[in-house]
Amino acid sequence: MAADENWRARVRTIRGVMGVCHLLVEPDGRGAVLLDTGLVGEPWFIRRALARLGLGPRDVRAILLTHGHLDHAGNVAWAKAWTDAPIYAHAAEQAHVDGTFPYRGVNRWCGRLERAGRALLGVGAPAKIDVTIADGDELPFWGGLRVVHLPGHTLGHCGFYSARHDVLFSGDLFASYFFKVHIPPPILNSAPELIPGSLEKARALGARFIVPQHYDVLDGELHRRRFEVLLARRARRRVERNEARV
Ligand SMILES: [Zn+2]
Ligand SMILES: [Zn+2]
Repeated sequence: MAADENWRARVRTIRGVMGVCHLLVEPDGRGAVLLDTGLVGEPWFIRRALARLGLGPRDVRAILLTHGHLDHAGNVAWAKAWTDAPIYAHAAEQAHVDGTFPYRGVNRWCGRLERAGRALLGVGAPAKIDVTIADGDELPFWGGLRVVHLPGHTLGHCGFYSARHDVLFSGDLFASYFFKVHIPPPILNSAPELIPGSLEKARALGARFIVPQHYDVLDGELHRRRFEVLLARRARRRVERNEARV
């Protein structure tokens, strides 16, 4: 089946202070799915984006979390209370949502930043993951979304792939800006040894369009090309390191 290239018309970017969250509008136009919930200020933008679609909170069918970091799950308790929609996320993300993840090593800085952020922003309302997801799960939203487990940034970090539109929502696998395309810095990654495998898994999936949760413009083809450049750069560095050893 040829990919439906009109997917962009059914994605609303909600831009926050750090990253973005998305509203994925259902094919029938009746209802939407919230992909991540953002940080400070986003509830107002989420409300406005939904209203512009002519939709209300009860039209939100699900809240999908790529992972539980504060800039993605900061408003998940609010979103749950406002929409009454079920929260979908990998089970390993509950500790991040709760703010109790035992960060280790250099990653402890991530925990410190999150604790400071929680205190500053007054985030802290509990939110329970209603539906735990795992690699390969097919979710009945947006014409079908497949869960793609991409661990490394966090243990339960997941992307969502739409075969219908051939687009991968890649979470924080990498950030894509004009001035910088990069994988998250070491202090933000709980299991960095798993990142190469997840990069390879995303590459092998071969999606025509990629949409991360930190980017400049909503252009899935551009982000896919930048992702390929990022992989080529990493491969080149590996070769150079190996050559330096001999
Ligand atoms: Zn993150
Ligand atoms: Zn992030």
